[in-house]
Amino acid sequence: RKGARMLEKLGGLLLSCVVYLGATVLAVDLQHHGYEDMVRALFNVHNECPYITRLYSIGRSVEGRHLYVLEFSDNPGIHELLEPEFKYVGNMHGNEVLGRELLIQLSQFLCEEYRAGNARIMRLIHDTRIHILPSMNPDGYEVAASQGPEDNGYLTGRSNSRDVDLNRNFPDLNALMYYYEKINGKNHHLPLPDNWEEQVEPETLAVIQWMQNYNFVLSANLHGGAVVANYPFDKSREPRVRGFRKTAYSATPDDKIFKKLAKTYSYAHGWMHKGWNCGDFFDEGITNGAHWYSLSKGMQDFNYLYTNCFEITLELSCDKFPATEALQQEWLGNREALISYLEQIHHGIKGMVYDENYNGIGDAVISVSGINHDITSGAGGDYFRLLLPGTYTVTASVPGYLPSSRLVTVGPAEAIELHFYLKLAPKDTTDVNLNRNIHNIKDPLSKVPPRNLGPR
Ligand SMILES: [Zn+2]
Repeated sequence: RKGARMLEKLGGLLLSCVVYLGATVLAVDLQHHGYEDMVRALFNVHNECPYITRLYSIGRSVEGRHLYVLEFSDNPGIHELLEPEFKYVGNMHGNEVLGRELLIQLSQFLCEEYRAGNARIMRLIHDTRIHILPSMNPDGYEVAASQGPEDNGYLTGRSNSRDVDLNRNFPDLNALMYYYEKINGKNHHLPLPDNWEEQVEPETLAVIQWMQNYNFVLSANLHGGAVVANYPFDKSREPRVRGFRKTAYSATPDDKIFKKLAKTYSYAHGWMHKGWNCGDFFDEGITNGAHWYSLSKGMQDFNYLYTNCFEITLELSCDKFPATEALQQEWLGNREALISYLEQIHHGIKGMVYDENYNGIGDAVISVSGINHDITSGAGGDYFRLLLPGTYTVTASVPGYLPSSRLVTVGPAEAIELHFYLKLAPKDTTDVNLNRNIHNIKDPLSKVPPRNLGPR
């Protein structure tokens, strides 16, 4: 069997060489990429499209492999004001490999289409800064790949090389959020626990620092083992009862937006929206995470509770390690969905928060009436707020300034620009400091060991 795989690999290599020679653009490269191959593929894309890409590492895995990110932008390496930042993360579970291949393929596709003058892709790259992390768990991948597609066990290679499931490794901010909901506390950017750096794996640490360094607005985390678009919260609000698994819908204040984001993916996908996949049924191909099964310390809830970023979790294949021959069909089934989802970042409202001298104010809080989840402006004073069509009262507030409210009507098209010009408050208003020791509250779920090892 190993020999056969070698032959297959060689065949694939030859095929891509032939295509490469024959084509003016990048080779069709639909095969599994081990670490070295993946790095080579990403460097190739950068070499083919040097003016719109940048390759950087956010850190290293336990075994020292770089976690490479390929960035697409008309000005790589620079945050341009009012240009939102997007991220795709693949292969967080090392044995769920389709996301990794799709993101390599997507990178090649974006580069090729940009060069070919595809107006839609050119516009996307001009208006968006796109960050692609094809593998968050390169160590786990190597373990899974050494077994190959046919022999891959359900869990082999899922965790990192210290046997930690990375999607159960983020600081748990849900318990704090659910407590704050009751006492009307802070509803965004919840504080991290003390010494959190020591409590997470190197891969998780790298991703959290990445989130701290970029003001991401929208994201998706690519998994396998089911076919469904899963949206927050993953963690149930209700504690488990006597070992029974509670499957209670756990809505975020942005539930309607998350549903729309998930549907954007499922309906643009070849078959996700049909509902029946892998022997499971999900209406319209979407599910609330906790409604499916409750999960603690996952990445998507963390994005929403700690940053401005809205993230969903995409389950993309029944088979966690699809055969090489299936990759072409998977790419065709996901291509439009990957692009359409990306384009969702341009909906809602965006704008600048200025002081009296027209300097941008970072960390300004943007609140929308009727949605109990605020977001903040980035370091340069620009903010991005995903919203469904409708009329909203939006307020910008900064300590020391008079808050400013404006009425805005959001349509179905491009984001509406709404700027705020704040005036200094006549005298110092007292800054309400939220209780810092709140992290010691008892989390009713924390005692139950995580039994769930589903796709997510
Ligand atoms: Zn997974």
